[in-house]
Amino acid sequence: MKTDVAGTVAEWIGEARKIVVLTGYELSAECGLPDFTDARLNPHIRDFRESRDVRAGYWKKIMEIYPSLVGAEPGPGHRALAELEMLGNLDCIFTQSTDGLHRKAGSTTVIELNSSILWITCPGCGKDYSLDEIAAMLEKGTDVPVCRECGSDQLKPAISFPGQPPPHWEAREAWMRLHNADLFLIAGASLDSEPVASYPFLARENNARVAVISEKEGPADDYVDAVIYGKPGQVLSYIIKKVKEGITIS
Ligand SMILES: [Zn+2]
Repeated sequence: MKTDVAGTVAEWIGEARKIVVLTGYELSAECGLPDFTDARLNPHIRDFRESRDVRAGYWKKIMEIYPSLVGAEPGPGHRALAELEMLGNLDCIFTQSTDGLHRKAGSTTVIELNSSILWITCPGCGKDYSLDEIAAMLEKGTDVPVCRECGSDQLKPAISFPGQPPPHWEAREAWMRLHNADLFLIAGASLDSEPVASYPFLARENNARVAVISEKEGPADDYVDAVIYGKPGQVLSYIIKKVKEGITIS
């Protein structure tokens, strides 16, 4: 970790009026969660709708990861961002993760760009189920959950599968919030696909500072104000500690 750059980002946090944060899979991975881009967890919507076997395979995989999902605890990155909210200048956290760990850490201004894996909706009648309710149905021996209201066996989480547009309200909200931000912090997120790929550029156009924290190189690294390569949880903890100490490094 380049502590000088992290110190500079801490200084920017101290100066910012409105901070928008984007987080993603790297924070979830630090908590032992699987990669939700795994093909069995991410079937094409057409295959999911048309094939009972695909749906059965999907729910089998969900049941495999269910214990780690419900048992997961927030990591240092989630906790650091919950502390950042208490400091007063955080506008909101956008997350690509669907695991609910920011809320579990105590963050209240969280917008889930890809919705949540913890809520399942019936496309037939709109009834919502918690993942716990679905797991209870599956534990009774059925391989595909069936809606208690309308009998549909097409239940799925609100997350977008390939072939479905990303949730619209969330993307629009991100666009509006980024227009008003003066610091955009990207931690452990993937900038490989739209609309998220444009967010750093959108923030820059509005004169916000943009900082990226990631274990890997990303497509926006050459265009942002600071890049820190390292585990996002560790880096965020360090930065927030610096902010709280009021230490500035220039
Ligand atoms: Zn239904």
